[in-house]
Amino acid sequence: MVPRDPEAQVFVTENHPELRQTKLQPAAELLPATRELEQLGSGRRTQQRVPASEALQVTAALGSSSFHPGVSRDHAVGEGFLATCLALRSSSSCEVNILWAAHQVHHSSEDYNLFTALRQSVLQKYTSWIFNLPMALFIPPSVFAVHLQFNLLYQFWIHTEVISNLGPLEWILNTPSHHRVHHGRNPYCIDKNYGGTLIIWDRIFGTFEAEDAKVVYGLTHPVNSFDPIMLQLRPLAHIWNTFWATPGFCNKLSVIFKGPGWGPGKPRLGLPEEIPVITGKEVPFNPSLPAYLNCYAVVHFAVILDLYTELLGTVTTLSQGTLLLRIGFIILSLTSFGLLMENRPKAGILEIIRCLVFVGVYKLGYLRSQFSSLGYAYEVLFSLCAAFWGIQIMKRITSSKDKHH
Ligand SMILES: [Zn+2]
Ligand SMILES: [Zn+2]
Repeated sequence: MVPRDPEAQVFVTENHPELRQTKLQPAAELLPATRELEQLGSGRRTQQRVPASEALQVTAALGSSSFHPGVSRDHAVGEGFLATCLALRSSSSCEVNILWAAHQVHHSSEDYNLFTALRQSVLQKYTSWIFNLPMALFIPPSVFAVHLQFNLLYQFWIHTEVISNLGPLEWILNTPSHHRVHHGRNPYCIDKNYGGTLIIWDRIFGTFEAEDAKVVYGLTHPVNSFDPIMLQLRPLAHIWNTFWATPGFCNKLSVIFKGPGWGPGKPRLGLPEEIPVITGKEVPFNPSLPAYLNCYAVVHFAVILDLYTELLGTVTTLSQGTLLLRIGFIILSLTSFGLLMENRPKAGILEIIRCLVFVGVYKLGYLRSQFSSLGYAYEVLFSLCAAFWGIQIMKRITSSKDKHH
């Protein structure tokens, strides 16, 4: 059988001589699944070659697999090093103030579900490279790239309260239970369970904590806001202010590189007694909203999702200006939704501006839906919404005038 992706195979074998062996051996010796096929099949020996992508995935997934003794030793060293770097990255993200400023976005959710996994910082990718860089000394880039995706995928499903305990797997793997502790703001949860895929690293380095009392999720000092820009950038402003307010050059450096709870005269990670006490009765920030506003937010979020998907599909064909305009509109929309969800009085003004911007920009062709038939419906929807918010604001102005008279 001809490899599905011959170019990929050439790339892999040229750049990673250890995989060249893969090319020469019958697939039956490489992939257990293929061996099974042979046993089940008609006895015809299939001289299958393993496509590069599959070879990579199998090698990466098994790591210290036994079918290539030379490769396995390198990969075992590489994997150990990779795991150490990832564990170091994870612990530093929580224990170094400037890195925490980025990572705290992920922890700012007071709910714990699969959406929490997607709640990520825009800044984190500018800091994680520091810990990824040393891996270049041991790990082929393609193996690293595959591992990174596995690592990322694995960490998605553990953000759930649905799975309580996984029995013996709790000893080795980072499970939903272990990661719930990582997201807790109870004093017993702080700076615990950094592991991404395996929990053994925390057990070895003494940062493991089993789930015990009811975990209350979020930051020790909750943000109480749905404003996405504020959530992303507020900690940086806090570091900036603390940096200038703290006397002494070494102290200033410590503000940046020690823990978020550090202050002059305190241990590196701050004082445990300063962590607010948790009673278990804390409730997530959730301002009460009229039902129509919840429906409004759902509909408009679906429209933004449509515009975003269209943007992803056409990103390489757009000019820088159009790209910036579309990204700007998505950020404006998310900010406006945040203010609406907080039931702020001025949210209506921003929403009018957003709706009018949409109608204008859509008419000029700078924004586009994936479904061209929806264009007219969107224009009508946004025009009606602008009128609706206009009426709401007029009502508010007249009622406040009546109160004054
Ligand atoms: Zn974390
Ligand atoms: Zn998480």
